[in-house]
Amino acid sequence: MGRIGIYGGTFNPPHIGHIRAAKGVVRSLGLDKLLVIPDRIAPHKELPAGSASPEQRLEMLRIALRDCSEIEVSDIELRREGKSFTYETVLELRWRYPDDELILLMGTDMFLTFHEWRNPDVILANASLGVFYRGEKGEKTSIEQRKAEMEAQGHNVYLVRNEIVDISSTDLRRMLVFGCAGSFLPDGVEDYIRNSGLYGSGADYKNLPMDRLEQVVVRLLKKNRVNHVLGCRDTAIALAKRWGSDETDAARAGILHDITKAMDGPLQLTLCDEYGTILTDFSRKYPKTLHALTGALVAERIFGENEAVVTAIRYHTTGRANMSLLEKIIYVADYMEPNRAFPGVEKLRELAFSDIDGALKLGLEMTLEHLARQGAEVSPESRGALEFLN
Ligand code: FE
Ligand code: FE
Repeated sequence: MGRIGIYGGTFNPPHIGHIRAAKGVVRSLGLDKLLVIPDRIAPHKELPAGSASPEQRLEMLRIALRDCSEIEVSDIELRREGKSFTYETVLELRWRYPDDELILLMGTDMFLTFHEWRNPDVILANASLGVFYRGEKGEKTSIEQRKAEMEAQGHNVYLVRNEIVDISSTDLRRMLVFGCAGSFLPDGVEDYIRNSGLYGSGADYKNLPMDRLEQVVVRLLKKNRVNHVLGCRDTAIALAKRWGSDETDAARAGILHDITKAMDGPLQLTLCDEYGTILTDFSRKYPKTLHALTGALVAERIFGENEAVVTAIRYHTTGRANMSLLEKIIYVADYMEPNRAFPGVEKLRELAFSDIDGALKLGLEMTLEHLARQGAEVSPESRGALEFLN
């Protein structure tokens, strides 16, 4: 009797986290074979536009895993019509490998909601479970509790310690557009993606007309940020009209200002690294504040924006001494766009159309107060901005 692992997923695209997990589990569970199975359509999610076809996902996995003789990439779910359910795959493999132990692999979230899957009993009657986990404390307790419960019912559960690579496929697709995904992709896969123009990589995003730019930006943002960004653009246009600044620049800076906001601190640092940017101590300490810097870098290099737009994005969270009119407009628009609701926002909205420097100063002061309440440091740029206005 041999041991066969089953590792399913969307793999859109496969990244080094998937590949390390696959190679690692062959070793840690002593598998004779690991079947890596891209799914046709995951029952619970729709694929984003610009995604790879099922055949392309299969091909990328084959490229990434070609040096591993124990690992086989299987099209078993791709050949099936309609939605694919795990229990059907398990049944088909049970029929194909009647004498082997099958181990169905999954992440901790999936394991903890396993009872909600379609026909979990059918799965358990035919396969053991293997759970990838990081071994963190809180996680460990709930996983081990569940494992004990299932084992009491006579099922086999293996815990597989796994160095989880902190990147989601969604973030990876963003990094591809920003030209910074290389370190997360297995050898050969990045070339394949680029040569096939998948996920909008390798496209030319320079000087897009406004409607096209809006489509691209909306795709790269988190859903809950879209209204804020569109509101900021419209407010920036209104303020540009009022104060005689270039309306096109205002619109473009407004829509691009949070372009990298969806990425967490470590990814912000990766982007800076890939772009060869040297960071200040302050940025290293507060990587979340980096989205203004990385947004400016992306606006310049990927979207080909002019310097006025780029610096407006660069200083939209901190301000700086001696700001340009467009920089002030974006700073204030970001603060007061129609979706913002906080005490004092009405005052800011009034001031913005009568005294832009006054509005800027009020915004800076409110930020400083907020930071003080949180016990966080004020950036040197913000301090410089206020000194300049006083
Ligand atoms: Fe921002
Ligand atoms: Fe913003």
